[in-house]
Amino acid sequence: MTRIAIVGVAGRMGRTLVNAAEQDADATLAAGIVPPGSSLAGADIGELAGLGSKGVTAVDSLAACADDFDVLIDFTTPEVTLENLAFCAEHGKSIVIGTTGLSDDEIATLDGYRERVPMVFAPNMSVGVNLTLKLLETAARALGDEGYDIEVIESHHRHKVDAPSGTALKMGETMAGALGRDLKEHGVFERVGQCGPRSDKEIGFATVRAGDIVGEHTVMFATEGERIEITHKASSRMTFAKGAVRAARWLTGKPSGRYGMDDVLDLNE
Ligand code: NAD
Repeated sequence: MTRIAIVGVAGRMGRTLVNAAEQDADATLAAGIVPPGSSLAGADIGELAGLGSKGVTAVDSLAACADDFDVLIDFTTPEVTLENLAFCAEHGKSIVIGTTGLSDDEIATLDGYRERVPMVFAPNMSVGVNLTLKLLETAARALGDEGYDIEVIESHHRHKVDAPSGTALKMGETMAGALGRDLKEHGVFERVGQCGPRSDKEIGFATVRAGDIVGEHTVMFATEGERIEITHKASSRMTFAKGAVRAARWLTGKPSGRYGMDDVLDLNE
């Protein structure tokens, strides 16, 4: 039985993660963490998630529940995630990181822990999105150098703070990798004014922020005479939360290392 602690239990993903962990027969909801000094410390985490009392009270530091859990699930902010990663390294814990919007420097810091912590780090934990990444790799390889323009369009709710989404970037990196291109060189994230025609090798990104959209990504491969679109639509945060709990279970007994959802789902040949 994997003992799971969830950081940010009062957040959008935190509440959904409590639901997902509660539904998983092989996981125990062991602890929930709220920000230091939060008035929600002491509240029942089941109550926070709208499930009724689960007999686990929220604490406002990892130190307060260090003996209670094996795997931490963290969907917060880059700064908080890196602090929690350091805690996991010091205390022999595993971690599932869903936080997006990390800078290159922050990703390098995260990567520096790969020898000391078993971690799954993925900008999107949904099974469907991770399968979509595989489809995109195949499509990019077949079409990307044959005159098909590649564009990524993503839509999310009005509260999302980073853009483009971590998932859109991962899609771009996956396709660029399949084509031997560097996304830093060929990614185009803004078109405004007299920006001229697109180049053959660029991978364009467009962002929509509106209402309560959970997360939608379309990748377009367009050429003269036809257009292929591969779309994934998340209709509930539960898809991410279930993936994260599955990742937490999968980490049990794994050696230190940085893993992705493709490892968890065994999508690599
Ligand atoms: P949110 O703002 O609703 O939740 C974040 C929570 O973290 C808040 O409740 C906040 O109080 C809490 N928090 C902040 N600092 C803390 C600390 N020091 N200790 C404990 N808790 C702390 O945001 P959200 O919509 O839940 O998204 C969180 C992150 O997860 C974002 O980066 C988002 O992009 C990402 N996300 C990833 C996936 C995925 O599949 N990987 C899916 C959805 C969202």
